[in-house]
Amino acid sequence: MNSPKFTPEPASNDPVERDFSVGDVPGLRAPAAGTDRAPLVFDVIIAGCGPTGAMLAAELRLHGVRVLVLEKETEPVSFVRVVGLHIRSIELMAMRGLLDRILEHGRRRPAGGFFAAINKPVPKNLDSAHAYLLGIPQPVIVELLEGHAIALGAQVRRGCAVVDFAQDEEGVTVESADGERLRSRYLVGCDGGRSTVRKLLGVGFPGEPSRTETLMGEMEVGAPPEEIAAKVAEIGETEKRFWLRPFGGGAYSVVVPVAGGAGGAEVGERAEPPTLEDFKEQLRAIAGTDFGVHSPRWLSRFGDATRLAERYRDGRVLLAGDSAHIHPPTGGQGLNLGVQDAFNLGWKLAAQIRGWAPETLLDTYQAERRPVAEEVLDNTRAQMELHSTEPGAQAVRRLLTELMDFDEVNRHLIEKITAIGIRYDFGAGPDLLGRRLRDIDVKQGRLYDLLRRGRGLLLDRTEHLTVGGWSDRVDHLADPTAALDVPCVLLRPDGHVAWIGDDQQDLDDHLSRWFGRPAD
Ligand SMILES: Cc1cc2nc3c(=O)[nH]c(=O)nc-3n(C[C@H](O)[C@H](O)[C@H](O)COP(=O)(O)OP(=O)(O)OC[C@H]3O[C@@H](n4cnc5c(N)ncnc54)[C@H](O)[C@@H]3O)c2cc1C
Repeated sequence: MNSPKFTPEPASNDPVERDFSVGDVPGLRAPAAGTDRAPLVFDVIIAGCGPTGAMLAAELRLHGVRVLVLEKETEPVSFVRVVGLHIRSIELMAMRGLLDRILEHGRRRPAGGFFAAINKPVPKNLDSAHAYLLGIPQPVIVELLEGHAIALGAQVRRGCAVVDFAQDEEGVTVESADGERLRSRYLVGCDGGRSTVRKLLGVGFPGEPSRTETLMGEMEVGAPPEEIAAKVAEIGETEKRFWLRPFGGGAYSVVVPVAGGAGGAEVGERAEPPTLEDFKEQLRAIAGTDFGVHSPRWLSRFGDATRLAERYRDGRVLLAGDSAHIHPPTGGQGLNLGVQDAFNLGWKLAAQIRGWAPETLLDTYQAERRPVAEEVLDNTRAQMELHSTEPGAQAVRRLLTELMDFDEVNRHLIEKITAIGIRYDFGAGPDLLGRRLRDIDVKQGRLYDLLRRGRGLLLDRTEHLTVGGWSDRVDHLADPTAALDVPCVLLRPDGHVAWIGDDQQDLDDHLSRWFGRPAD
């Protein structure tokens, strides 16, 4: 393989803080035999160019970090797993100037009806300027994010799997399948549920194996629409993992449970896709007819394994997306969760590499994101129970369906699925502290447009505060809007509220906490 070629880019060789030593990290492996401690050509190598890896690469590039993405597959996968982007992910796209492009490729749909597929209207006044679901296939999301990362200067090598690595006190030596060794300061495993990086790191992945198997695909049908609708309605009374829905262009989206379950297959663990014959067999088993399905566009299968990595970081190696957590796809949260991991990690890892990160900043990635994943795992476990055909589970489902007529219950569940209810624990303070701020009009335009460069932002109505020595990392917006009902808000680059107040000393303390020492 050729040596990597780089277009000129900002220098990012500031000294990296020595934040750990080999002796401090249990299980840290010695450098691979033959490692010559070649120069650190890259700051970060990312294993995997799925949605998580592509988003992370783009976020790092915003800060001039030298990024190489190694992707096992030569071409992006073509099957359409994902229902779409939920509100928080749509907001992230708006915060990076990607929303118009994403909207061109997706269809807006109501944000409700995703918790265990219980169909309820969206509560009024959801706290977002982007309160809808954006139906967009996963391959399109990956293509857009990969293109965005490349446009920002990330290098992506396809057909190049990570097979081994070793870390030392200065960096990581990463070995690809063709035997090439590459050096970087950090390695991030965004390599999916069967993550090679996680396994090599020896990080445990406890949880439950799959108990069910479901086929999912897109195909044409021979049966008349009325016949299909009647059967789906009849079976759907009790079996929530079964549907045939018109998808546009004459195709149907087909989901059908496999009789007898999965026998322990993990999500994504069974690499080989099902055949059209498998679909016909399972459709006949549940509906007594295969609806004359033919001409498949893509066919896939999934299980309900639920697992969470014991830790997200080990020295210079981190995990994000499915490599850190897997769960059943009910509610359509996995891709969203991974992209949001990347958004949380990107600016922190960049700060570490640029040399201004406070000592504990990088560890806040796990402290903030692992509890969010735990929560998602739990809500998918709950949803899977509500999909069960057992009489007890069906009774609980009927009860929850009634309870969701209360606006507060419905709102609570939608805020979970769409991730706009997340509040990171930044210590005691007003309810807004730790939450993300919705996109609002400010005198200078839209708030999210002002976050595009991935910097911090002080929204200041006091006329006396300043960002002082942090102005190279934090923008200051004076007198932004009357809509803000607090004197001043400090936003992190991911749009979460890091401080609220009006006292300069208190602000300086919080600027130090999140953005390190001020420049001289
Ligand atoms: C049927 C189904 C439906 C789903 N529906 C939804 C939905 O509606 N909404 C939602 O949010 N999520 C959904 N998901 C989940 C979603 O698809 C995943 O959560 C998402 O793909 C995770 O993204 P990722 O980038 O972390 O991992 P992946 O998408 O798995 O990407 C990992 C990448 O790493 C590459 N790779 C693997 N090993 C290596 C290696 N050793 N070296 C280099 N590269 C490697 C892979 O080729 C791949 O490109 C669904 C999943 C399934 C199975």
